[in-house]
Amino acid sequence: MFARPQWLILLLVLIAGLVWWRVPADTQQLSRTALIMGTLVEIRAFGDDQQQLNQAISDAFAEMTRLEDLLSSHRPDSDVARLSSAEKTVKVSAETAKLLQLGQQVALRSGGAFDMTLGAVKQLWAIETDHPQIPTAEQLQTALHGIGPRALQIDGTQVTKSVPALQVDLGGIAKGYAVDRALAVLRRAGIRSAAVNAGGDIGLLGDRQGQPWRIGIQHPRNKGQLLTTLRLADRAVVTSGDYERFFERDGVRYHHIFDPHSGQPARRSQSVTVVAADAASADALATAAFVLGPRAGLKLLEDWPAVEGLLVAADGTVYQTSGLQRSD
Ligand code: FAD
Ligand code: MG
Repeated sequence: MFARPQWLILLLVLIAGLVWWRVPADTQQLSRTALIMGTLVEIRAFGDDQQQLNQAISDAFAEMTRLEDLLSSHRPDSDVARLSSAEKTVKVSAETAKLLQLGQQVALRSGGAFDMTLGAVKQLWAIETDHPQIPTAEQLQTALHGIGPRALQIDGTQVTKSVPALQVDLGGIAKGYAVDRALAVLRRAGIRSAAVNAGGDIGLLGDRQGQPWRIGIQHPRNKGQLLTTLRLADRAVVTSGDYERFFERDGVRYHHIFDPHSGQPARRSQSVTVVAADAASADALATAAFVLGPRAGLKLLEDWPAVEGLLVAADGTVYQTSGLQRSD
């Protein structure tokens, strides 16, 4: 006697369920940290083999260290240091040239709010050292000489500076790029679910075991309090804020994101979070929008394709782009 169709369907459902149940779930998880680019980097990855996860994470850290050697202004042999010490024209790697081009695009589209030629300004303030200081107006004027979105002419891999003293600094974009490259290494190793967090520059590979990753956005003034939570997969989320690297003098906060027009710490925002397909773009756009503040900053993010963002203005008002999905 043949089984009736409903029994057949039930049987098929049961078999399918059994097969699904017997497929080994990706239950292994590994999380490791390393100090790279002056920041604590955490990589968390899921997979079905601890050894594979461990190797993949080691390779991802090695990739980020390679980029630190290439892009750090603290390394005398890096492309960036060679560019800063050059009189005029330097040949850089194709990779550096491509990153400079992305940075220049953000610089131009933000009306110069993002600026990779603020190295001399950054050195004057020395905010990320043990001896920060407030420069004089005259010192700042000298440091700002020749800077701007067109201060670097990029022609293939040849980069020409506007003035010999120009100092290049990729602190606002290179960390994001390194996150992207770390994710590429993990993906190539067969990992399908991972998160790389380089001090607020976060890259997400896939989802978190079938669920979106939950990314808490820190309140810029109330430590330990979240502003909101974002649920995301396959996205980069980068936050620029004035609350991690700063010093205070006479009640005034001096932080590490500078307004290229004045050389002073930018005063229009407390924090900006950008969600984008890649962390390099998100990194640069977060820095740019921070400098621009709510009106022009939000517009930059709205106009940039496939980007969303959240901006906390200097007075604490929270703004966001029209397509940002919050889950609070
Ligand atoms: P972001 O907003 O993403 O960037 C702020 C940084 O961008 C500033 O620190 C400055 O470098 C730059 N910047 C400031 N204003 C602007 C602007 N208007 N436009 C564009 N850029 C701007 N830190 C250490 O303490 N020791 C190290 O050895 C060290 N090495 C590093 C090497 C590399 C390759 C990189 C990328 C970073 C390194 N850092 C190091 C960290 C770096 O100094 C910054 O702290 C970090 O990049 C700031 O990132 P953020 O996410 O806090 O802020
Ligand atoms: Mg940035």
